[in-house]
Amino acid sequence: MKRKAPPLGAHVSVAGGVHTAPERGKRIGAEVIQIFSKHNTRWMGKALGEDDARAFREESARTGVRTVAIHCAYLINLASSKETVRTRSLYALEDEASRASMLGVPFLVMHPGSCGDDPAPEGISRIASGLRSFGRFPKGVTLLLENTAGQGNSIGRSMGQVRELLDAAGAPPDVAVCLDSAHLFESGYDIGGEAGWNSLLAEMASSGILPLVRMWHLNDSKTPLGSCVDRHEHIGEGKIPLSAFHRILTRKEFSALPMVVETPKDGEDEFEMDIRNLAALRKLAAGPPEGS
Ligand SMILES: [Zn+2]
Ligand SMILES: [Zn+2]
Repeated sequence: MKRKAPPLGAHVSVAGGVHTAPERGKRIGAEVIQIFSKHNTRWMGKALGEDDARAFREESARTGVRTVAIHCAYLINLASSKETVRTRSLYALEDEASRASMLGVPFLVMHPGSCGDDPAPEGISRIASGLRSFGRFPKGVTLLLENTAGQGNSIGRSMGQVRELLDAAGAPPDVAVCLDSAHLFESGYDIGGEAGWNSLLAEMASSGILPLVRMWHLNDSKTPLGSCVDRHEHIGEGKIPLSAFHRILTRKEFSALPMVVETPKDGEDEFEMDIRNLAALRKLAAGPPEGS
């Protein structure tokens, strides 16, 4: 029996308003998309109105493209040593959560944060207390903590660290995990090799992360294994062997999870590279890469 590929798509722009995103998804042949709900380098965006939400819902229905995730603004850092940054981060997170709720988007993806020069345990406890004070997310919205490349002392570089963070936060039922293939590779998981992949799966199983994975970011990496430097590349053009993507796409535990590419829109137009990346992923979902 032929296995169905996981729902695939990309992070798409909301230039012109959130309601423009589903059509962009349709243009690239995506089943699912991820968006920023506002400018990704600003703390707060213009408030979404009922009109915006209605237009978004209409476009989602018309195109059949599901917006599965809002990626939080990069400024949010619950691990910061500065209290003002942590406070602003909590307000911004609340803003993102209410946007997700208004738009009916189930996942909110957040990088756990970076603790600068402080030791990781301090960063973990700051993020955890931030999440505890945040309380519950709106009904229907799940926060996904994304694993990181380990750049700049960012928290979330290993399955063990993600587990520690979840435990410190009290393992809230509305917090789960999003995995990024480039970040895994950059943080040192050799997902291109059979042994590295198996040990990652074993680590995910023993830390209890495996059942918490709700989404994947499928990106190739410009930088080598263990570089701790996060630079996304188009599928097949970076350092990650294609076999890694085949494994992720065909693993039974992940078969129903939405998977999106987040690579630069550097083609002829904003759609070209997403179309190519999705074609490459569909091929890898159907069978192993040539020559393997
Ligand atoms: Zn990502
Ligand atoms: Zn990244």
